[in-house]
Amino acid sequence: MAVRAVVFDWGGTLTPWHDVDLTAQWYAYAQVYDPAEAASLARRLRDREEQLWQQQRASAGAVSTGALDSLFLAEGIDINDARHLRALGHYLDFWLPHTYADPDALDLLRGLKGRGCLVGVLSNTMWPRSYHQEVFARDDLDAFIDVAVYSSELSVAKPHASAFGVVLQALAVRPEEAVFVGDRLWDDIQGAREAGMRTIWIPHSTLPGREVPEARPDATAQRLQDILGIVERWDQLP
Ligand SMILES: [Mg+2]
Repeated sequence: MAVRAVVFDWGGTLTPWHDVDLTAQWYAYAQVYDPAEAASLARRLRDREEQLWQQQRASAGAVSTGALDSLFLAEGIDINDARHLRALGHYLDFWLPHTYADPDALDLLRGLKGRGCLVGVLSNTMWPRSYHQEVFARDDLDAFIDVAVYSSELSVAKPHASAFGVVLQALAVRPEEAVFVGDRLWDDIQGAREAGMRTIWIPHSTLPGREVPEARPDATAQRLQDILGIVERWDQLP
């Protein structure tokens, strides 16, 4: 079956993997929002965030974390307040160095589009679409992405088959016509396989929590640039 679409995970897949200190990210926020109580606010936001990710994992993506704003609202923070928006800017600045695309990503996406493939993104994220969009535009990837689906806008997340269904439907392709590329064996590889897609694993991330060593990707790519060759081979299969 010809490959009509390639759908990518974002963190650890289109970006190289980075270990990020979850308390430090919230400290960057809290230092601006409430300098006197920064350490305890950072801890509370971290705990709330971890709880949401755990809920998502425990439900196998049947429940998503929702959007970042839900954390602030639960903490009683006014999300329209200028102080909050300033603090949020510091949180996003903290993340900035971890958001740059893999140096191979632009050539890969261009190559896939050149073959007539559709390109999608499906990310488990709490960030708003606007932030992801900015990052893709900065790295010149936005013109090559046909559809981007973020779990912050969904009630489900990877590895739930419905999350994959959303991106497949938006691309108007059947699962067997699509390939999923991701760094997580459980969320990405097992999830996409269960949704009926072929899978390519990027094996360089240090992952916490639940993993399934028995999840078997159809192919493994040591570098993003290997993906074009894999897709070309699959296209030539009868
Ligand atoms: Mg990832």
